[in-house]
Amino acid sequence: MRAMLLREPRVPLEPVELPVPRVGDGQLLIRVKACAVCRTDLHVIDGELRDPKLPLIVGHQIVGTVEGSGKRVGVPWLGSTCGECGYCKSGRENLCDRARFTGYTIDGGYAEYAVADARFCFPLPDTYSDEQAAPFLCAGLIGFRAYRMIDDARRIGFYGFGSAAQILVQLARSEGREVYAFTRAADFDAQRFAREMGAVWAGPGEARQTLDAAIIFAPAGELVVAALRNVVKGGRVICAGIHMSDIPSFPYELLWGERSIQSVANLTRRDGEEFFEHIRHMRIETKRVRYPLANANEALRDLRTGTLIGTAVLTP
Ligand SMILES: [Zn+2]
Ligand SMILES: [Zn+2]
Repeated sequence: MRAMLLREPRVPLEPVELPVPRVGDGQLLIRVKACAVCRTDLHVIDGELRDPKLPLIVGHQIVGTVEGSGKRVGVPWLGSTCGECGYCKSGRENLCDRARFTGYTIDGGYAEYAVADARFCFPLPDTYSDEQAAPFLCAGLIGFRAYRMIDDARRIGFYGFGSAAQILVQLARSEGREVYAFTRAADFDAQRFAREMGAVWAGPGEARQTLDAAIIFAPAGELVVAALRNVVKGGRVICAGIHMSDIPSFPYELLWGERSIQSVANLTRRDGEEFFEHIRHMRIETKRVRYPLANANEALRDLRTGTLIGTAVLTP
């Protein structure tokens, strides 16, 4: 099969020909139809996440069909858990120390085939095509986990407006909430995109707005401080990314008033089930840019430089 392989961090992915992977007990062999690109792929490739499997096939937003049955499934970031630790037994398998992750500690979807633990795959709603469903597998699921942490906040700041934000803004609007989109200062394309997708306001990251809560998608630690300045007393700042640059020090006054900062780690299978249940009666539209699998490095470059608007999706 054709695959894009990470041989070592900080080196471009290499197009290679590999044997179709073997399937173990409880695993599915999946013919990949689409794999959406996530910022976490960049963090893995850049060596910002420790101890990846090497060589590695990255990619953890996989839509494909199971060889044999032809059934369509989605493969998310959470690839397996131990099932027996305190976290797993208390409904917090996202925190399992022995969890394995698709496209990081197990091979992922930048390939023609992928193998996944059947217990961690999701059935997908028929109303979405393969390419439409792919961004749901991380941007949707982990985004949804972050979104639920803001409780009933009405005025929500999104810092960074990419793959997850374009999905969540639609959930927020359907519930009568207002989204304020903060982007890089001169990124007028992203600001226009945010307004098109339903944000009531879009502007630079350091702008002042009054927010009930904020979700940080961009991996820039200084945005945590910018968001804290904007949230009202009791407001939450949720860090939705798996990696972020250092958070600069800030006066305690910004945290005072029962404001809080919280990270979001991975997802549980229950998050996935609840996300798909939640969107069952609505139509989520996403802006996507399709790249052939062989052009994965270009997709990653466009995400890195911010020229990409929406979500990049690779198709074998
Ligand atoms: Zn566990
Ligand atoms: Zn992801």
